[in-house]
Amino acid sequence: MRDLADRLDLLALNGATVRERWRLPEIVDGCARHGFGGIAPWRDQLQVTGTGTAARLIRDAGLRVSGLCRGGLLTAPDEAGRRAAIDDNRRAIDEAAQLDAECLVMLAGGLPGGSRDLRHAWRQVEEGLAAILPHARAAGVPLAIEPLHPMYAADRCCVNLLSHALDLCERLDPENQGGIGVAIDVYHVWFDPGLDAQIARAGEAGRILAFHVSDWRVPTRDLLLDRAMMGDGAIDIPRIRGRVEDAGYDGLVEVEIFSQHDWWRRDAEEVLTIVAERFRTVV
Ligand code: ZN
Repeated sequence: MRDLADRLDLLALNGATVRERWRLPEIVDGCARHGFGGIAPWRDQLQVTGTGTAARLIRDAGLRVSGLCRGGLLTAPDEAGRRAAIDDNRRAIDEAAQLDAECLVMLAGGLPGGSRDLRHAWRQVEEGLAAILPHARAAGVPLAIEPLHPMYAADRCCVNLLSHALDLCERLDPENQGGIGVAIDVYHVWFDPGLDAQIARAGEAGRILAFHVSDWRVPTRDLLLDRAMMGDGAIDIPRIRGRVEDAGYDGLVEVEIFSQHDWWRRDAEEVLTIVAERFRTVV
Protein backbone atom coordinates (compact mmCIF):
# COMPACT_ATOMS: atom_id res chain seq x y z
CA MET A 1 0.00 0.00 0.00
CA ARG A 2 1.37 3.38 -0.98
CA ASP A 3 2.26 6.06 1.56
CA LEU A 4 0.32 9.16 0.50
CA ALA A 5 1.87 11.57 3.00
CA ASP A 6 4.01 13.21 0.32
CA ARG A 7 2.15 12.09 -2.76
CA LEU A 8 -0.23 14.86 -3.75
CA ASP A 9 0.83 13.97 -7.28
CA LEU A 10 -1.48 10.95 -6.84
CA LEU A 11 -4.46 13.13 -5.91
CA ALA A 12 -7.00 13.90 -8.63
CA LEU A 13 -9.80 16.32 -7.88
CA ASN A 14 -13.21 15.57 -9.30
CA GLY A 15 -14.55 18.78 -10.79
CA ALA A 16 -17.87 18.42 -8.95
CA THR A 17 -16.17 18.99 -5.61
CA VAL A 18 -15.92 22.76 -6.12
CA ARG A 19 -18.37 23.14 -8.99
CA GLU A 20 -20.56 25.69 -7.24
CA ARG A 21 -17.62 28.06 -6.77
CA TRP A 22 -15.26 27.65 -9.71
CA ARG A 23 -15.47 27.06 -13.42
CA LEU A 24 -13.14 24.55 -15.03
CA PRO A 25 -10.21 26.93 -15.75
CA GLU A 26 -10.14 27.98 -12.09
CA ILE A 27 -10.32 24.35 -10.97
CA VAL A 28 -7.39 23.44 -13.23
CA ASP A 29 -5.43 26.36 -11.85
CA GLY A 30 -6.32 25.44 -8.26
CA CYS A 31 -5.28 21.81 -8.72
CA ALA A 32 -1.95 22.87 -10.20
CA ARG A 33 -1.27 25.42 -7.44
CA HIS A 34 -1.99 22.86 -4.75
CA GLY A 35 0.32 20.34 -6.37
CA PHE A 36 -2.38 17.81 -7.27
CA GLY A 37 -1.59 15.30 -9.97
CA GLY A 38 -4.91 15.13 -11.76
CA ILE A 39 -8.42 16.29 -12.38
CA ALA A 40 -11.70 14.69 -13.42
CA PRO A 41 -13.86 17.19 -15.29
CA TRP A 42 -17.55 16.85 -16.03
CA ARG A 43 -18.99 17.13 -19.51
CA ASP A 44 -21.11 20.16 -18.64
CA GLN A 45 -17.95 21.89 -17.44
CA LEU A 46 -16.30 21.07 -20.77
CA GLN A 47 -19.25 22.55 -22.60
CA VAL A 48 -18.85 25.88 -20.83
CA THR A 49 -15.10 26.07 -21.37
CA GLY A 50 -14.85 24.25 -24.68
CA THR A 51 -13.25 20.81 -24.87
CA GLY A 52 -10.25 22.01 -26.89
CA THR A 53 -9.52 24.87 -24.51
CA ALA A 54 -9.99 22.60 -21.50
CA ALA A 55 -7.62 20.01 -22.96
CA ARG A 56 -4.96 22.67 -23.52
CA LEU A 57 -5.35 24.17 -20.03
CA ILE A 58 -5.13 20.76 -18.38
CA ARG A 59 -2.12 19.72 -20.43
CA ASP A 60 -0.33 23.05 -19.82
CA ALA A 61 -0.95 22.65 -16.09
CA GLY A 62 0.71 19.23 -16.21
CA LEU A 63 -2.36 17.46 -14.87
CA ARG A 64 -3.51 13.97 -15.71
CA VAL A 65 -7.21 13.32 -16.30
CA SER A 66 -8.24 10.47 -14.01
CA GLY A 67 -11.53 10.16 -15.84
CA LEU A 68 -14.20 12.08 -17.70
CA CYS A 69 -17.58 12.27 -15.96
CA ARG A 70 -19.53 10.78 -17.41
CA GLY A 71 -20.98 8.42 -19.93
CA GLY A 72 -23.60 5.75 -19.66
CA LEU A 73 -27.28 6.33 -18.78
CA LEU A 74 -27.96 3.62 -21.31
CA THR A 75 -31.50 2.70 -20.30
CA ALA A 76 -34.48 4.26 -22.08
CA PRO A 77 -38.16 3.46 -22.61
CA ASP A 78 -37.86 3.22 -26.40
CA GLU A 79 -35.46 2.45 -29.20
CA ALA A 80 -34.97 6.10 -30.15
CA GLY A 81 -33.94 6.90 -26.60
CA ARG A 82 -31.47 4.04 -26.47
CA ARG A 83 -29.98 5.04 -29.81
CA ALA A 84 -29.64 8.66 -28.68
CA ALA A 85 -27.83 7.46 -25.56
CA ILE A 86 -25.40 5.41 -27.61
CA ASP A 87 -24.68 8.37 -29.90
CA ASP A 88 -24.12 10.61 -26.92
CA ASN A 89 -21.72 8.08 -25.42
CA ARG A 90 -19.71 8.03 -28.64
CA ARG A 91 -19.37 11.82 -28.33
CA ALA A 92 -18.32 11.44 -24.70
CA ILE A 93 -15.63 8.97 -25.77
CA ASP A 94 -14.34 11.48 -28.33
CA GLU A 95 -14.21 14.21 -25.69
CA ALA A 96 -12.39 11.89 -23.31
CA ALA A 97 -9.88 11.09 -26.04
CA GLN A 98 -9.28 14.80 -26.64
CA LEU A 99 -8.50 15.19 -22.94
CA ASP A 100 -6.25 12.09 -22.83
CA ALA A 101 -8.57 10.88 -20.08
CA GLU A 102 -7.55 7.64 -18.45
CA CYS A 103 -11.15 6.40 -18.64
CA LEU A 104 -14.71 7.42 -19.30
CA VAL A 105 -16.74 6.89 -16.13
CA MET A 106 -19.91 4.99 -16.96
CA LEU A 107 -23.16 5.20 -15.00
CA ALA A 108 -25.53 2.45 -16.04
CA GLY A 109 -28.84 4.31 -15.93
CA GLY A 110 -31.92 3.49 -13.88
CA LEU A 111 -35.24 1.85 -14.60
CA PRO A 112 -36.67 3.44 -17.74
CA GLY A 113 -39.86 5.46 -17.28
CA GLY A 114 -42.00 3.74 -14.67
CA SER A 115 -40.76 0.23 -15.47
CA ARG A 116 -40.42 -2.41 -12.76
CA ASP A 117 -38.41 -4.73 -14.98
CA LEU A 118 -34.94 -4.56 -13.50
CA ARG A 119 -33.69 -7.44 -15.61
CA HIS A 120 -34.73 -5.66 -18.75
CA ALA A 121 -32.81 -2.57 -17.61
CA TRP A 122 -29.72 -4.71 -16.99
CA ARG A 123 -29.99 -6.12 -20.52
CA GLN A 124 -30.24 -2.61 -21.95
CA VAL A 125 -27.11 -1.59 -20.10
CA GLU A 126 -25.22 -4.60 -21.40
CA GLU A 127 -26.40 -4.04 -24.97
CA GLY A 128 -25.54 -0.35 -24.79
CA LEU A 129 -22.05 -1.07 -23.50
CA ALA A 130 -21.56 -3.65 -26.25
CA ALA A 131 -22.58 -1.07 -28.84
CA ILE A 132 -20.05 1.54 -27.72
CA LEU A 133 -17.13 -0.68 -26.70
CA PRO A 134 -15.62 -0.84 -30.23
CA HIS A 135 -15.61 2.97 -30.42
CA ALA A 136 -13.97 3.20 -26.98
CA ARG A 137 -11.28 0.74 -27.98
CA ALA A 138 -10.59 2.54 -31.25
CA ALA A 139 -10.29 5.84 -29.39
CA GLY A 140 -8.07 4.36 -26.69
CA VAL A 141 -10.49 5.39 -23.93
CA PRO A 142 -11.41 2.52 -21.60
CA LEU A 143 -14.96 2.42 -20.23
CA ALA A 144 -15.02 2.35 -16.43
CA ILE A 145 -18.32 0.94 -15.13
CA GLU A 146 -18.95 2.54 -11.76
CA PRO A 147 -21.34 0.53 -9.60
CA LEU A 148 -23.43 2.94 -7.54
CA HIS A 149 -24.93 2.44 -4.10
CA PRO A 150 -28.24 0.53 -4.39
CA MET A 151 -30.26 3.57 -3.27
CA TYR A 152 -29.83 4.78 -6.87
CA ALA A 153 -31.03 1.58 -8.56
CA ALA A 154 -34.38 2.97 -9.71
CA ASP A 155 -33.49 6.43 -10.92
CA ARG A 156 -29.81 6.56 -11.76
CA CYS A 157 -27.87 3.36 -11.93
CA CYS A 158 -29.10 -0.23 -11.84
CA VAL A 159 -25.58 -1.70 -11.54
CA ASN A 160 -25.05 -1.61 -7.80
CA LEU A 161 -22.45 -4.18 -6.91
CA LEU A 162 -18.85 -4.52 -7.97
CA SER A 163 -19.59 -8.18 -8.74
CA HIS A 164 -22.30 -7.14 -11.23
CA ALA A 165 -19.98 -4.64 -12.93
CA LEU A 166 -17.30 -7.32 -13.23
CA ASP A 167 -19.82 -9.84 -14.60
CA LEU A 168 -20.61 -7.30 -17.33
CA CYS A 169 -16.91 -6.82 -18.08
CA GLU A 170 -16.41 -10.55 -18.40
CA ARG A 171 -19.36 -11.04 -20.70
CA LEU A 172 -18.45 -8.07 -22.90
CA ASP A 173 -14.72 -8.80 -22.96
CA PRO A 174 -14.35 -12.55 -22.44
CA GLU A 175 -10.84 -12.64 -23.89
CA ASN A 176 -9.74 -9.76 -21.67
CA GLN A 177 -8.64 -7.60 -24.58
CA GLY A 178 -9.24 -4.50 -22.50
CA GLY A 179 -11.19 -1.34 -23.10
CA ILE A 180 -13.62 -2.04 -20.27
CA GLY A 181 -13.22 -2.21 -16.52
CA VAL A 182 -14.52 -0.68 -13.30
CA ALA A 183 -14.31 2.48 -11.24
CA ILE A 184 -14.29 1.66 -7.53
CA ASP A 185 -15.78 4.44 -5.41
CA VAL A 186 -15.65 3.84 -1.65
CA TYR A 187 -18.93 5.74 -1.19
CA HIS A 188 -20.75 3.21 -3.35
CA VAL A 189 -19.15 -0.07 -2.28
CA TRP A 190 -18.04 0.20 1.34
CA PHE A 191 -20.99 -1.78 2.77
CA ASP A 192 -20.54 -4.84 0.53
CA PRO A 193 -19.52 -8.02 2.42
CA GLY A 194 -18.11 -9.36 -0.84
CA LEU A 195 -15.98 -6.30 -1.50
CA ASP A 196 -12.53 -7.73 -0.77
CA ALA A 197 -13.08 -10.74 -3.00
CA GLN A 198 -14.44 -8.59 -5.82
CA ILE A 199 -11.55 -6.13 -5.60
CA ALA A 200 -9.15 -9.07 -5.86
CA ARG A 201 -11.13 -10.42 -8.83
CA ALA A 202 -11.00 -7.02 -10.55
CA GLY A 203 -7.28 -6.73 -9.92
CA GLU A 204 -6.50 -10.17 -11.29
CA ALA A 205 -8.16 -9.26 -14.56
CA GLY A 206 -6.46 -5.85 -14.64
CA ARG A 207 -9.83 -4.12 -14.63
CA ILE A 208 -9.47 -1.46 -11.93
CA LEU A 209 -9.46 1.75 -13.95
CA ALA A 210 -10.21 4.34 -11.27
CA PHE A 211 -10.48 4.72 -7.50
CA HIS A 212 -12.70 7.41 -5.95
CA VAL A 213 -12.86 8.59 -2.35
CA SER A 214 -15.19 10.63 -0.14
CA ASP A 215 -16.98 9.56 3.04
CA TRP A 216 -20.42 8.42 4.22
CA ARG A 217 -22.02 11.00 6.46
CA VAL A 218 -24.05 9.76 9.44
CA PRO A 219 -26.87 10.60 9.18
CA THR A 220 -27.07 11.25 5.45
CA ARG A 221 -29.48 14.12 4.71
CA ASP A 222 -29.68 13.82 0.94
CA LEU A 223 -29.37 10.74 -1.25
CA LEU A 224 -27.20 12.48 -3.82
CA LEU A 225 -25.65 15.63 -2.48
CA ASP A 226 -24.51 14.91 1.06
CA ARG A 227 -21.16 13.20 0.80
CA ALA A 228 -18.67 13.84 3.56
CA MET A 229 -15.02 14.82 3.44
CA MET A 230 -12.68 11.87 3.92
CA GLY A 231 -12.28 11.23 7.63
CA ASP A 232 -15.66 12.69 8.61
CA GLY A 233 -17.79 9.62 8.00
CA ALA A 234 -18.23 5.87 8.46
CA ILE A 235 -15.95 4.45 5.75
CA ASP A 236 -12.62 2.81 6.55
CA ILE A 237 -10.98 4.35 3.49
CA PRO A 238 -7.36 3.22 4.11
CA ARG A 239 -8.52 -0.37 4.43
CA ILE A 240 -10.30 -0.30 1.07
CA ARG A 241 -7.43 1.58 -0.59
CA GLY A 242 -5.09 -1.10 0.76
CA ARG A 243 -7.13 -3.83 -0.91
CA VAL A 244 -7.32 -1.89 -4.17
CA GLU A 245 -3.57 -1.27 -4.24
CA ASP A 246 -2.77 -4.84 -3.17
CA ALA A 247 -4.82 -5.86 -6.20
CA GLY A 248 -2.36 -3.97 -8.38
CA TYR A 249 -3.94 -0.55 -8.79
CA ASP A 250 -1.27 2.15 -9.01
CA GLY A 251 -3.25 5.03 -10.51
CA LEU A 252 -4.64 8.29 -9.21
CA VAL A 253 -6.89 8.56 -6.16
CA GLU A 254 -9.81 10.79 -7.09
CA VAL A 255 -11.56 12.92 -4.50
CA GLU A 256 -15.24 13.32 -5.42
CA ILE A 257 -17.53 15.18 -3.02
CA PHE A 258 -21.08 16.34 -3.79
CA SER A 259 -22.15 18.34 -0.76
CA GLN A 260 -24.83 20.97 -1.08
CA HIS A 261 -25.11 21.61 2.67
CA ASP A 262 -21.44 21.91 3.46
CA TRP A 263 -18.47 21.70 1.07
CA TRP A 264 -20.14 23.36 -1.91
CA ARG A 265 -20.86 26.36 0.30
CA ARG A 266 -17.29 26.84 1.41
CA ASP A 267 -14.55 28.84 -0.19
CA ALA A 268 -12.98 26.63 -2.88
CA GLU A 269 -9.46 27.49 -1.81
CA GLU A 270 -10.25 26.26 1.69
CA VAL A 271 -11.82 23.07 0.28
CA LEU A 272 -8.67 22.25 -1.72
CA THR A 273 -6.47 22.85 1.33
CA ILE A 274 -8.58 20.48 3.44
CA VAL A 275 -8.77 17.89 0.64
CA ALA A 276 -4.96 17.87 0.50
CA GLU A 277 -4.59 17.58 4.27
CA ARG A 278 -7.11 14.70 4.53
CA PHE A 279 -5.53 12.97 1.55
CA ARG A 280 -2.21 12.92 3.34
CA THR A 281 -3.61 11.76 6.68
CA VAL A 282 -6.83 9.73 6.45
CA VAL A 283 -7.08 8.33 2.91
ZN1 ZN B 1 -17.27 8.08 -8.17
